[in-house]
Amino acid sequence: SETQGQNFLQEIIEEDKKTGKHGGRVHTRFPPEPNGYLHIGHAKSICLNFGLAQQYGGKCNLRLDDTNPLTEDTDYVQSIERDVKWLGFDWAGKYFASDYFDKLYDFAVELIKQGKAYVCSLTADEISQYRGDFNTPGRDSPYRNRSVEENLDLFSRMKAGEFPDGAHTLRAKIDMTSPNPVLRDPPIYRIRHAHHHNTGDKWCIYPLYDFAHCLSDSIEGITHSICTLEFENRRVLYDWIVDNLIKGGRPYQYEFARLKLTYTVMSKRKLLQLVTEKLVSGWDDPRMLTISGLRRRGCTPVALRDFATRIGVSKTDSWIDMSVLELCIREDLNEHAPRAMAVLKPLKVVIENYPEGKTEQLDVANHPQKAELGTRQVPFSRELYIEADDFMETPPKGFFRLSPGKEVRLRSAYFIKCESVIKDDKGNVVELRCTYDPATRGGDSPDGRKVKGTLHWVPASAPTAEVRLYDRLFSAEQPDKDKDKDFKQFLNPNSLEVIRDARVEPMLADAAAESRFQFERLGYFYVDPKDSQPGKPVFNRTVTLKDSWAK
Ligand code: ATP
Ligand code: MG
Ligand code: MG
Repeated sequence: SETQGQNFLQEIIEEDKKTGKHGGRVHTRFPPEPNGYLHIGHAKSICLNFGLAQQYGGKCNLRLDDTNPLTEDTDYVQSIERDVKWLGFDWAGKYFASDYFDKLYDFAVELIKQGKAYVCSLTADEISQYRGDFNTPGRDSPYRNRSVEENLDLFSRMKAGEFPDGAHTLRAKIDMTSPNPVLRDPPIYRIRHAHHHNTGDKWCIYPLYDFAHCLSDSIEGITHSICTLEFENRRVLYDWIVDNLIKGGRPYQYEFARLKLTYTVMSKRKLLQLVTEKLVSGWDDPRMLTISGLRRRGCTPVALRDFATRIGVSKTDSWIDMSVLELCIREDLNEHAPRAMAVLKPLKVVIENYPEGKTEQLDVANHPQKAELGTRQVPFSRELYIEADDFMETPPKGFFRLSPGKEVRLRSAYFIKCESVIKDDKGNVVELRCTYDPATRGGDSPDGRKVKGTLHWVPASAPTAEVRLYDRLFSAEQPDKDKDKDFKQFLNPNSLEVIRDARVEPMLADAAAESRFQFERLGYFYVDPKDSQPGKPVFNRTVTLKDSWAK
């Protein structure tokens, strides 16, 4: 059919365009609460909202949904802006819900005048008792029938700061008998004597999400207000408020399934715990599935957008495996990252038949498929390092790397053969004595002799560098599955391995912060922008070359 391959939101928008529902306009918004850093779930929402606007020639706003003064902060606002831009999007307008506090107050007054809101003096606990739940019917608040005049008076005095926190709330007067508890006179304003990051001390009453969100959408001329499935049963409230207060064109709410990813927690509250309890180095710790953590890990915006496209948009919850994300990252980096050589656990090799004091420069391709990425020179001389794991004194069958009497290829260099082994007092292998075949320069033998193993290597003069290897932050697939257990008990104790004395080929000593490489056979690496210093890069492993978790 015409709509095949489209998600349900694209179908809705195309239908709306046909019927002229919003005068042909498409205007979405991404509405984070600035109470933490954005995570990969937000990336899905960003790609969706900005993506739909792009696709249909519309607009997308960035709205900071800052109606709770206790948890919000200007630092968070800045991190959100940076992350959205880094992902590759630009907003039509940037707004704060708090910019609308005056308008929202007027809307609340209007609702009181219509007899559709009242000041309730029950405590928060009493309100929830009176409201009941899906199994328990609601009961009217004793304050439900206050007169419009009394409500107007009390509400203006709430605003003026005459009452302490919790003394009163403003509630929408809807239907205490509704089967949907959301409609049982939901609170829409509460008293909070607290400093707000944007409005300072101007206000001591703050609108609640259900009231602020739909009206902010209306004020901005949003057409399609896209949120996650938990809000489905609140759509009737969204509609009730908008229908009572907005004349003319109005926004509509649509719900999609939030991203659920294995081996991580996603809620900002939990991510904040990891940060404040110093279980990670910060919001941008490369193990965190925050956008800033992914960026510092070396993930690219292209890979993250590709991930959002591949997981798609649906109306039913499902789990996405972490390996999907890793695949997207690997594919992008494979195409673009220049190759380099580094040795994580160096084992010295001395080539006995190579002239002492001689150094030759070998030309090495920067990318096997992309000649346009050029070549670089890697010095080769009598002493070098290979990976300790690439040698075994008594190898099992099928071990194609180096062992006594065996010959292997050094990447882009020569064939070498292990002649003897030098050990320390404790019997550890500390050096290999090898010979090389000068006829194999570049990596092939003119006599057609084959070797099975190709090893990466660096010259013995190679500079040292710090390399950080990351594993998943949690060892459980769903760390917060069990509400009675602390998700932090599932932290993976081996999620970070720091190697301070890796050896890297000479050009890597000058690698620019934020550059990316494939270290041959080891994975993709990113030059850490925070901890690297000139001439002293720190390399974060973004992802391995293969999925080491695949069974
Ligand atoms: P959290 O519980 O992680 O704090 P939130 O929904 O409270 O998430 P907001 O800042 O309110 O965070 O979210 C901004 C937007 O991002 C909302 O529209 C929300 O629906 C969307 N969003 C949040 N988490 C996800 C997710 N896991 N998948 C898709 N969209 C998400
Ligand atoms: Mg929210
Ligand atoms: Mg939240």
